[in-house]
Amino acid sequence: MKAKRAEEMIARSERCVCKQCGGQLEIRIIVYNKYGGSGAELYCPHCQKIEYGTEPEIYRAAKDFVDCTGFNHFVDLEETERTYLLNVAKVGEILSWGTKYWGLTDKNGFTIPLQLSDEDEE
Ligand SMILES: [Zn+2]
Repeated sequence: MKAKRAEEMIARSERCVCKQCGGQLEIRIIVYNKYGGSGAELYCPHCQKIEYGTEPEIYRAAKDFVDCTGFNHFVDLEETERTYLLNVAKVGEILSWGTKYWGLTDKNGFTIPLQLSDEDEE
């Protein structure tokens, strides 16, 4: 594994969370195919999948958005805990795309200090 990729992966495993469940990520050696191809990937042990992860602030915002608005991208699926998590992940992807687009995040996370709204105030 290239040193730079390894460094970035370690940093993401320490900083980022699973965009679906918000859980901690691990670095695992993944076997891609029966011919022996394998490599290190960020992995969510809770969701049991390879997971690049998202910034924890983005995950929290995505979860709040789904909770507050009832956002449902998957109208053809029965509403379950799983579709809830898929919706949180979908909103997280949109928010991540936006923050990258506006230069608010880069590979090291947020590029500006955030002023997060306090949930208790209102
Ligand atoms: Zn997960």
